[in-house]
Amino acid sequence: MANNQEEGLAIGIDLGTTYSCVAMWQNDRVEIIANDQGNMTTPSYVAFTSAQRLVGDPAMNQVARNPTNSVFDAKRLIGRRFSDPLVQSDINLWPFKVIEGPSDKPMIVVNYKGEEKRFAAEEISSMVLKKMREMAEAYLGTTVKNAVVTVLTYFNDSQRKATRDAGGIAGMNVLRIINEPTAAAIAYGLEKSGCIGKKNVLIFDLGGGTADVSLLTIEKGVFKVKAVAGDTHLGGEDFDNRMLKHYVEIFKRQHKVDISGDSRGLRRLRTACEKAKRILSSAIETTIEVDCLFNGIDFFSTITCAKFVELNMDLFRKCIELVKKCLVDAKIDKSCVHDVVLTGGSSRIPKVQQLLRDFFDGKELCKSINPDEAVAYGAAVQAAIVIGMGNEKIQDITLLDVTPLSLGTEIEGQVMSVLIPRNTIIPIKKEGVFHTLTDNQTVMNISVYEGERARCCDNNFLGEFDLCGITPAPRGVGKVIICFDLDINGVLNVSAEEKTTGVKRRVTITNDKWRLSNEEIERMVQDGERYKTEDDYHMKKVKAKLDLENYAYDMKNAVNDENICAKLSPLDPAVKKKIEDAIEQVIQWLDDHQLVDSQLYHDKLKLLMSICNSIWI
Ligand code: AMP
Repeated sequence: MANNQEEGLAIGIDLGTTYSCVAMWQNDRVEIIANDQGNMTTPSYVAFTSAQRLVGDPAMNQVARNPTNSVFDAKRLIGRRFSDPLVQSDINLWPFKVIEGPSDKPMIVVNYKGEEKRFAAEEISSMVLKKMREMAEAYLGTTVKNAVVTVLTYFNDSQRKATRDAGGIAGMNVLRIINEPTAAAIAYGLEKSGCIGKKNVLIFDLGGGTADVSLLTIEKGVFKVKAVAGDTHLGGEDFDNRMLKHYVEIFKRQHKVDISGDSRGLRRLRTACEKAKRILSSAIETTIEVDCLFNGIDFFSTITCAKFVELNMDLFRKCIELVKKCLVDAKIDKSCVHDVVLTGGSSRIPKVQQLLRDFFDGKELCKSINPDEAVAYGAAVQAAIVIGMGNEKIQDITLLDVTPLSLGTEIEGQVMSVLIPRNTIIPIKKEGVFHTLTDNQTVMNISVYEGERARCCDNNFLGEFDLCGITPAPRGVGKVIICFDLDINGVLNVSAEEKTTGVKRRVTITNDKWRLSNEEIERMVQDGERYKTEDDYHMKKVKAKLDLENYAYDMKNAVNDENICAKLSPLDPAVKKKIEDAIEQVIQWLDDHQLVDSQLYHDKLKLLMSICNSIWI
């Protein structure tokens, strides 16, 4: 635990694909912290313009004007390789550019202040995390260093480490990484803390980019995850894409033009589709309208709930398949599920709810927790527990999470030898004994994979290293013990040790090549500071401009306002003219100077005030 109260503060952050949310345990309850727009969720968007960098709502609001430099979905990229087929298919849909960086790392390319800049997904996520942290700091009036950050259950080792790195770049100490549905379960568990006995709870989390299903048992404060199932590419954005594709076709039919190459038009149409989709959660029909969508042609169409469902039915069914898989893995019959808890914005879709209800034979779904806030809520509780700040209500909470995929190494014949089977409770440490394959073998390659397939090539490669200096011995005599250590955050450390001669040699995967090096992280931390300084500098200019603009217009109104002038000594016409000219000059100067150094605005303001003050004396 930290030394003093201030250092000890810890927040919970739900770093979402499309929206993020921050919360904190305070005064014996969780407080969801609003952003400067008063919203409880903040878009996970970062935009770069010729003048400034924007994060959150302002970034999202200017997307249509600046699509190629507005970055979102960093969570779909984080910890992945450029050559990953999922990354390749996403790249085709994003208006911003992603290129292959060193070691197959995807790099986002934008134009910032007239220069080309490249960012890793971790850096973009760090900017969102920093924004969330600043919101908490503004609310609490003090600095906050510690955070619990949530991730998708299906995030692998590299994605979890990359998320932790993003926290580091944002200058935060990431206390713990927890799975989103588990966090939502904590929120549910606290709401229902009065209930007695063991409960089987299914958390159905359908967000912007992902679907996550977890089956937990909750008993006397122990939250035990029994099984998880999920799809890292199934969520609200996929539903938007289906609508988008449909309307691009309609536009093609109606006007004989294909807008699929026009990133600005696509962005505007996508925004209209997303808005319509939300409305269809509470209405049976709505309109999609985009003025001047392409070459001055306006677009207008109506969409019904039925059409929206038809466009997405196969995707909705996929969600139910995940529920079935989770129950099979947990070995629990659907009739034994006490509550089905909905979280994630897309769980509001009525058809998804109906399919769920039907699957559970008409069972009412639990909507008592806010789907947008539940994950941050649970993260905040976990943060309070880790730093020992909670009350007796949360002190007894114990989380027992599981690993979503089996982990193993490659053995002869490309076979995957599983050391940690999926759905094993973490943290866990498992060892396996492996023998040398050739006479006098001195080097053993240890390749680590995750997945359920028998052959390693069908699974996901996580990393590799060589254990060198093995004592020469006949084939099969050399013995190497490989140890998989999966920590509480789901982060894996693998070590290998030669036992033949009793000499221990230990190698740990510490620098898997897709991860940022310590130097890179340090550089990004410094860049982050620089961007903050630049953002502050920009805000200073905007404020100075506004001060001058407001003053000039206030004065213009005042000298022409009879009520105000009546209270003053009669104005000499020459003085009045001088003041009016000075005001007019300033207004014109403001029109010609969009954004200049703040000192120039201060100087102009001082001068104008000295001229205007003559009438108030
Ligand atoms: P999350 O990742 O949990 O923040 O969820 C964001 C996703 O939920 C986005 O794709 C939103 O379009 C979607 N969403 C939010 N509200 C609604 C709603 N009322 N109906 C349908 N989808 C929604």
